[in-house]
Amino acid sequence: MTRSKIFPLLFLLSLSADAFALDRELSRSIFAELISIDTTNEHGNTTRAAQAMKNRLLAAGISEQNLWLGGSAPDKQNLVMRMPGKSSLDPILLLAHLDVVEALDADWTIAPFQLTEKDGYFYGRGTMDDKSMAAHFVTNMIEYTREGWQPERDIIVALTADEEGGNHNGVRWLLKHHREKIDAALAINEGGTGLIINGRYRTNNLQASEKTYQTYKLTARNAGGHSSRPANENAIYDLIDAVGAIRKYEFPLQINEVTHGFFTQTAKIVDQRQLREDLTAITKKRPSKRAIKRLSAQPYYNALLRTTCVATMLSAGHAENALPQTAEATINCRIIPGVEPSAVKAQLKKVIANPEIEITSVWDTIWSSPSDLSLVMPDVEAVTTSMWPGVIVVPVMSTGGTDGTFLRAEGIPTFGVSGIFTDVDDNRQHGKDERIGVKQYFEAQEFMYRLVKKIAGPRLP
Ligand SMILES: [Zn+2]
Repeated sequence: MTRSKIFPLLFLLSLSADAFALDRELSRSIFAELISIDTTNEHGNTTRAAQAMKNRLLAAGISEQNLWLGGSAPDKQNLVMRMPGKSSLDPILLLAHLDVVEALDADWTIAPFQLTEKDGYFYGRGTMDDKSMAAHFVTNMIEYTREGWQPERDIIVALTADEEGGNHNGVRWLLKHHREKIDAALAINEGGTGLIINGRYRTNNLQASEKTYQTYKLTARNAGGHSSRPANENAIYDLIDAVGAIRKYEFPLQINEVTHGFFTQTAKIVDQRQLREDLTAITKKRPSKRAIKRLSAQPYYNALLRTTCVATMLSAGHAENALPQTAEATINCRIIPGVEPSAVKAQLKKVIANPEIEITSVWDTIWSSPSDLSLVMPDVEAVTTSMWPGVIVVPVMSTGGTDGTFLRAEGIPTFGVSGIFTDVDDNRQHGKDERIGVKQYFEAQEFMYRLVKKIAGPRLP
């Protein structure tokens, strides 16, 4: 064979070996378009981003009747797309938020609202949180449409507003006003990334639970008076005693299916012997007191082991020369999922042991229970192993929050998983010069492409 005949043949062979040929140009241009649209709550507009993605899907031949734009404010619209399945099995929902956290030009070394490729990274506000997932979902829907692939069950993509803040949270609004448009057997959401530790891909995290966020206000009151004649009773001293009691108190150990899975899996990849033994010990029926103590001394592990409450703000008094009439402390709690916030409030009251101190919830919080891992774990593990042999899937309970809480609270099991790997020491979400690795961006797209094909199959109930 001549050289000119060998090359086309090799080209064909390489294509067939890689059954999935991702349209990188398309993916990149959708991603760049999303990053270039300012969707901050301060001066941005999510409707423009939602409309741009609708246009992309229309241009790819997706019918107008399967695309829907709606929201509670003109500049806070959400896009919902439905890809009809072959059967009437419950749909799956792919959720990504379009809004991003504020980014100031002056704080960044490159323009935040423009996709810049540099040194193997894509830079821009939202490259990690959460526009990469939005771009993956949109591109993959176009890929599936081009292939003519029809899923077993409907696939819904929802791109929403105000996850990061603002008064028009798209998920809450959709659940309240158009539940039928996003109702699903389960949802895939942000909140789970892969971790690169010492340059190696180690874990693909699967978020199945989130701690409940609840803030309480403690108030001490007193008649006050002239500071030249101090009395024994004093609002500031009373409040300090109450805050001091909370400082000393430790909520009991509470391990659930998700954190049990987290400790078990993490123990497999930890190099440090003592830590590995402690993580293993904590999964036992009666964990050793020493292991609990050592892990509790590390803020992250402590946050996974129990409900935490911490003083975050103080205000008291009205004049330098007056006895204080009011003293207030803000106590921010992160509650283990499934525990009612009212129970935490009752416990704080007991700990403070002073009936004169008022405790009020700053708002009515939304709380949710962990999602059933068995719904997606086998598929996430299969795709992870096929793409990155040796990488383990680690169930995660977030100590912060995402829109997943609203879905879980409404009975839709929700899983944070993205296949996006980042270095464990390079987390720039919400921060300066946010970025995602170029290689990792495209790998995650393929991961999602494969995972959705599996999950949209008939296996789920
Ligand atoms: Zn986010």
